[in-house]
Amino acid sequence: MRCEFSLDHYIEILIESKRLDYSIYSFSDWINSEVPKLPGRTIILRHDIDVSVNSALTMAEIELDYGVISTFFCRLHSSYYNLRDAGTAGLMAKLSTNSEIGLHYERMYYDSIEGEDTDLLMKDREEICRLLEVNIQGCAAHLPGKNGSFDEEIVKLAGFDFEAYAGRFVKDRKYISDSGSRWREGCLCEWLGKEDHLTVLIHPVWWTGWHETKETVVYRLGLGD
Ligand SMILES: [Zn+2]
Ligand SMILES: [Zn+2]
Repeated sequence: MRCEFSLDHYIEILIESKRLDYSIYSFSDWINSEVPKLPGRTIILRHDIDVSVNSALTMAEIELDYGVISTFFCRLHSSYYNLRDAGTAGLMAKLSTNSEIGLHYERMYYDSIEGEDTDLLMKDREEICRLLEVNIQGCAAHLPGKNGSFDEEIVKLAGFDFEAYAGRFVKDRKYISDSGSRWREGCLCEWLGKEDHLTVLIHPVWWTGWHETKETVVYRLGLGD
């Protein structure tokens, strides 16, 4: 396997995980399933839509082809895309037919406006539910390294069932991420067969090709775009 950020490699990874008997879960499916208490191999798979809904949809369509369901966390305060735009909401609605949707909350934005964190989270949750006509169970912090994430007790007060950075996902299980287009501890393909229970964060934009350089994207995200 040639390790790179490409859809071909993503497909190789999905095939290899199936060959090695991993069951892949969205967050809510994992929470609601009895499987976590049983032996075997599991992956909880998550995608953060930082930049492009189209990239996310491309990845979701591949997952559908390979019988995989994952969780996609989307933003409400980005200049990269706007869910209030009918075309974008349409793409997200398509994505939500086979994938779980969650809120990718933006603390940098919350810090810039008036209001309690729980109220702002609740407001964002209700807006996504209304715009996409879906039920949102979970959330995940955008840029947690910079801005931190909320404890699960806080997000539960805002109506969520889980926060994707809670210890049960990132400490009790091996957690790896491709943040900034860099696998700090090696690509997911290198963990398959080595670790039985993985929580994995993959940003679709790195795998699908994008018209801006990685440096530009990272810089713009840092500005709050
Ligand atoms: Zn790889
Ligand atoms: Zn993000």
